[in-house]
Amino acid sequence: MKIIKVSNWRVTGPLKIGDCVTVMGRDYILEKLEPYVTKRGGESSPLHWHGQCQTCGGEFSFKSGRVRFYPYANCETHRPNAKGVGVGHG
Ligand SMILES: [Zn+2]
Repeated sequence: MKIIKVSNWRVTGPLKIGDCVTVMGRDYILEKLEPYVTKRGGESSPLHWHGQCQTCGGEFSFKSGRVRFYPYANCETHRPNAKGVGVGHG
């Protein structure tokens, strides 16, 4: 038997700067792509995102990989410290 966890959001399809995606009712704009080659020669492109804080309405930026996108609801100031707490409910 196996137990797997597939809970992270993944970015698929062509990437276009300035494009907006909606995750869990929140909008995120792709700001920038950072070309990056790992030590092992693999390709990895950190994505720079732009979002809006649900608490103060302020704008914030964050980075993600293609295979692990975390849809932050708040700016760093208003983010809960505990990891995994409140996921799915803002
Ligand atoms: Zn905030």
